[in-house]
Amino acid sequence: MKKNMLIIMLISFFVILLTACGSDDPNTSSNNDENTAQNNKGDDVYKVVIDPGHGGKDKGATSASGRYEKEFTLSLSKEVEKMLKQAPNMKVYMTRNDDNFLSQTSRYRPKYANRLYADIFISLHGNTFSNPDVSGTETFYYHDDSRLLAETMQKHVVDATGFSDRGINKKDLFVVRDTNMPAVLIEVGFLTNPQAESKMYTDKFQKSVAASIVDGIKEYRSESKEQGIGDWLF
Ligand SMILES: [Zn+2]
Repeated sequence: MKKNMLIIMLISFFVILLTACGSDDPNTSSNNDENTAQNNKGDDVYKVVIDPGHGGKDKGATSASGRYEKEFTLSLSKEVEKMLKQAPNMKVYMTRNDDNFLSQTSRYRPKYANRLYADIFISLHGNTFSNPDVSGTETFYYHDDSRLLAETMQKHVVDATGFSDRGINKKDLFVVRDTNMPAVLIEVGFLTNPQAESKMYTDKFQKSVAASIVDGIKEYRSESKEQGIGDWLF
């Protein structure tokens, strides 16, 4: 009899224990729901990769007064980064933050953006030409689904530079070819043109161009959402 009582008590104990564990389950699942909600919220964040052209031993173009393109692209990119950090629901990633050399053969720049599942990729450059009279702003893209981004960025950036509008062009450049998301390469202006160059290294010019890039990104974001561009990625 005593043995039976003991067994009943033991069974009761386990039933109580199981019920207690069971009551933990709703908490666990509500935590999961919270996590899912947070993840969903994360999906609303627009991931922008800014790629300062060149870097390190790859100096890029040499300007009319002997300065390097890599210096121009980095300081302009840092302005864009600063402004994008203020923008709601945007996350900015830089392919380089300092005078790093990123080898072209490693394809680091497009790979970096692909790994992040970035929404857009923007590479910034200063142009060069043997004739110092040549001037203007132009934007390159490669894949057809990058055309709207190219048009939108070109429109905004050319307004800010005040240089002539050289338009958008399709070109086989690895940074815009090997990226899985809409990608453009903006040649902001010709560093080899002395008048253009005297503006391009100033804070005022860079802040104004950076603001135009951010405006372009915002416009493209809402425009592409309406057109459903980029949805195929997810
Ligand atoms: Zn360049």
